[in-house]
Amino acid sequence: RAADVLETFRARDLVIERSTVQQAPINLEDLKFGTVFTDHMFHVEHEAGRGWGAPAVKPLGMLQLHPASQVLHYGMCCFEGMKAYHGADGRMRLFRPDQNMARLRRSARRLQLADFDPEELLGCLKQLLLVDRSWLPAREGFSIYIRPFAFASSGVLGVAKPGRTTLSILLSPVGPYFPTGLKPISLFVDEHHRRAWPGGAGDCKVGGNYAPTIHPQVQAAERYGTPQVLYTFRESHQHADQGEFEECGAMNVFFYMQKRDGGRVLATPRLSGTILPGITRDSILQLARAWGGCDVEERPVTIAEVRQAHEEGRLLEVFGSGTACIVQPVGALVRSNGEVFRPQLGTEAALTGSGGSGSSSGGEGSLSARLQRTLLDIQYGRMEHPWGVVV
Ligand code: PMP
Repeated sequence: RAADVLETFRARDLVIERSTVQQAPINLEDLKFGTVFTDHMFHVEHEAGRGWGAPAVKPLGMLQLHPASQVLHYGMCCFEGMKAYHGADGRMRLFRPDQNMARLRRSARRLQLADFDPEELLGCLKQLLLVDRSWLPAREGFSIYIRPFAFASSGVLGVAKPGRTTLSILLSPVGPYFPTGLKPISLFVDEHHRRAWPGGAGDCKVGGNYAPTIHPQVQAAERYGTPQVLYTFRESHQHADQGEFEECGAMNVFFYMQKRDGGRVLATPRLSGTILPGITRDSILQLARAWGGCDVEERPVTIAEVRQAHEEGRLLEVFGSGTACIVQPVGALVRSNGEVFRPQLGTEAALTGSGGSGSSSGGEGSLSARLQRTLLDIQYGRMEHPWGVVV
């Protein structure tokens, strides 16, 4: 049936308009995350009844929006975060880009924004990257951060299905996400604010999940000096210690623990609908399962369990995972009641291993360091892997 044919824009229809402005070269030494943008952007618009317009790569410029645009009032927007890496062989690589495209499509559908073929969007992204290829830093730890995003651009004051969708991609050369680099960070365990709830949209990357997290994040930074908040969830009748860890403002979270019977377990909160299905998270689970050597579990992880592991010296490592930081070691979990859980391997020396530099064989050092090395080896093309997609 014709109705089953997906209405989409096509990468082969992409129109490229090149910028005539030459930006000054960037200084990698003081490159602040997300502040510098390349010369071009991708842009395409959908209008109900007319469908998608022509997809375009054009000079980076301001957007013109009707002040009644639904996105400005009802937060009707979603986004993705991915990276392009300068490979050891000089080729540019993406990491599992199909996953980001599929997730953006899912988020857009949750907001009733216009649908599209994710493969066509990936085709457009690759062309955008080739146009701005000279912006890709040829240096370990650096990359081009890619920000696809879609929003309701209809100038209509109405909480209703948008009549107009704008879909765009920005590129931003970046270095390490946290200024501290690979040093462990502390996380404030927020047991008061909720990031998401059953039946909500916590598993979609929609703007509405992020705006309300700034306040808890600022509060935690002021009170505890922590750069991110670790959200928890519990039913109101449950005791505080039954609270389950969920995820951070922009990272999933992992707990590596010694079991009482001597074995080890890598546990991360299950995808219950209230956390984002991170692509780094999924990659870590797949790697750890393939490596063996520990149980790998997606399940509830409660404050009580982590406290007990901590008290018994079995809490080995805690780390966050996400595109921006890849793997981020956590040195301390801070509760508002003053309790602090410190993983055994929370020190920088333990995390990096004594002799490990550039080897991807693992063994020495921590699990998080081994995961980080392996993911970087795939991303920078030192290890041939289907997850590394050449542009
Ligand atoms: N959780 C949240 C809330 C995030 O914003 C992100 C970043 N996209 C992640 C987890 C990590 O997801 P990914 O590994 O796909 O970057």
